[in-house]
Amino acid sequence: MKNRITELFNIQYPIIQAGMIWCSGWELAATVSNSGGLGIIGSGSMYPDILDEQIAKCKAETSKPFAVNLPMLYPNIEEHIETIIRHKVPIVFTSAGNPKTYTDRLHKEGITVVHVVSSLKFALKAQQAGVDAIVAEGFEAGGHNGRDETTTLCLIPMVKKEIKIPLIAAGGIASGRAMLACMVLGADGVQIGSRFVASHESSAHINFKKAILDAKEGDTELTLKELTPVRLLKNDFYSRVQKAYTNHASKDELVELLGRGRAKKGMFEGDLQNGELEIGQIAGIMDELLSAKQIINDLLKEFDDAQNELSKISLK
Ligand code: NDP
Repeated sequence: MKNRITELFNIQYPIIQAGMIWCSGWELAATVSNSGGLGIIGSGSMYPDILDEQIAKCKAETSKPFAVNLPMLYPNIEEHIETIIRHKVPIVFTSAGNPKTYTDRLHKEGITVVHVVSSLKFALKAQQAGVDAIVAEGFEAGGHNGRDETTTLCLIPMVKKEIKIPLIAAGGIASGRAMLACMVLGADGVQIGSRFVASHESSAHINFKKAILDAKEGDTELTLKELTPVRLLKNDFYSRVQKAYTNHASKDELVELLGRGRAKKGMFEGDLQNGELEIGQIAGIMDELLSAKQIINDLLKEFDDAQNELSKISLK
């Protein structure tokens, strides 16, 4: 198919795999890109030498476009930017920061810049900063999220109404039906995270993948809003956070409880009790570990089936 997103990224389908910390390494990104979508390497959990190696491996595995996600909170961001430029990575998705900071510099290097937002206010700021497209991510999404709790169903039409640049929907999308729904609401493409975490190629620990597939409706919650809001799978660590809230914990006490490296512990090392398990609400309908290629094939089939079913319905 051809639309603003497939043309912007020079890809076959407007399906983008999210650049998630500890889950989105070269193997996942290259497989998604080779399957006609856009694969993204999640650089937020990578030391500079690791990112360098991951990009090199991705380039060796695919001749198709791929991207790097750059969370602006990352401590060694300058080194990451130099690595991205040196490897001539064609597309960067920036998140968790001001889109004005790096957009011009990346554009001067010929890099397409996409910024991830969770509200209309930030979408407008990103458009003004000159980014090429926006990912609007709703409340359902896993990991870091906005404070406003705007769901994807509400966020996409609100952003669509006000912005002119291409719009990618994210949060709660794990099927072709959800993809079609987002495109009906005005999105030009979708970014999918949780479904790809539970894939063979994701670098997440197998314990985490199994926990995702076991998850049911109501098993995740957006918490730690005083720090950086994050949607987690409920586990022992989450219960400790809830207990801290019951005891009216201060922000400093929450910072101490969170500690360092909890996301790595849970998602990469598979410690399901003590780790942070960042995943979206849609985990509740996923029950099978699949290859990334199969996930994309399923998305395409479900999208077509849903479109055919809808074409038979008339309100007249
Ligand atoms: P913590 O401060 O708890 O831990 C830092 C982790 O990042 C450690 O596990 C460390 O690995 C690893 N790391 C990689 N590169 C560096 C570096 N240059 N300096 C220090 N640590 C590094 O942070 P989080 O794990 O919560 O988050 C890490 C990053 O990921 C942040 O930049 C954050 O903004 C981003 N992030 C993005 C999310 C998203 O949804 N896009 C979600 C959550 C986080 P090691 O243990 O091997 O030292």
